[in-house]
Amino acid sequence: MSIEFKKVVNKSSYLDPRKKFEPQTVETEIRWDPLTGKISRIFPFRNLILHRHDWTPFVEESKKRFCPFCPDVLETVTPKFTPDFAPEGRIKVGDAVAIPNLNPYEKYASVVVMSSRHYIPMEEIDVKLMVDSMQASLIYLQKALSYDPAGAAYSSINWNYMPYSGGSLVHPHLQVLAGAEPCTFDKQLLDSSAKYYQTEHGNYWSDLITAEKNNGDRYLGQTGGVHWVSAFAPRHVGEVIGILPGKQTINELTETDLAGFAAGLKNIINYYHSINIVSFNAAIYFAGAEDTGYSIHARIIGRFTIFPLVGSDITHMQVLHDDPWTVALPESIAEGLKKYF
Ligand SMILES: [Zn+2]
Repeated sequence: MSIEFKKVVNKSSYLDPRKKFEPQTVETEIRWDPLTGKISRIFPFRNLILHRHDWTPFVEESKKRFCPFCPDVLETVTPKFTPDFAPEGRIKVGDAVAIPNLNPYEKYASVVVMSSRHYIPMEEIDVKLMVDSMQASLIYLQKALSYDPAGAAYSSINWNYMPYSGGSLVHPHLQVLAGAEPCTFDKQLLDSSAKYYQTEHGNYWSDLITAEKNNGDRYLGQTGGVHWVSAFAPRHVGEVIGILPGKQTINELTETDLAGFAAGLKNIINYYHSINIVSFNAAIYFAGAEDTGYSIHARIIGRFTIFPLVGSDITHMQVLHDDPWTVALPESIAEGLKKYF
């Protein structure tokens, strides 16, 4: 096992106007992801204190506008799958409905409407809602893979909750994708996992669980078969990774596994709610049967705005330099989250 938690602490000096221009030194960190080697920047000197956010005006406005996912219109205004792909037209599990994305951005792109409810407050997101929606996503992905093995080789299940996350509709929905090529970050995960497997003769993801359990700084706990850790080099505020050791393809995933993911996500969402992170992105990443050293895993990150109602938490650092940053130390996030596991 060779997992390195590499970081450097940089010191910057200035004369501080808040302290009569006395010399002041502040610290920032650069961390390297133990798997991909990608940089993440942490500015822990800025306290992340978010104010309580009320989505009511957005929700009310969205109700006045047209919502294609509401139950009175869904059957008439949303597309259906072609009969050769899914003769049932739409894939239904519980209250969740998988439909084709009218504006696809991948060869196989489905939207899973998670609920008949137009708006679900964060604290009311429950495990069943998530399991049913993920089950509908999984059925879609399995259909796509058997329909077009090469064209749907790489897949993911994604969730943008509320507008700060980039979600265009308030009505809760998942974005489910499959294509011939993996996304850029997904490819890094696949390639780095295979490389680790080759050089270290072990599975990175299992080794990460062991390493994080041993140091105790970021390991949160287990829900079903899924182990949760606060990411050492987070891609954004409050990133948590949920790892399902021993499974890597969509065809291996069971409903019990989904329940494990959903239970952990529920804990994290409850924590986000408690610290006023009111929006998030989440994804589940898979590999193919031919890949080596991989484990199915989920990631969830918090999204926020510093200024009420306007502003973005994505800056030049992410979009023009490819460097993720966060203002919350992963170890502090872990401390807060441990109470929820
Ligand atoms: Zn709606």
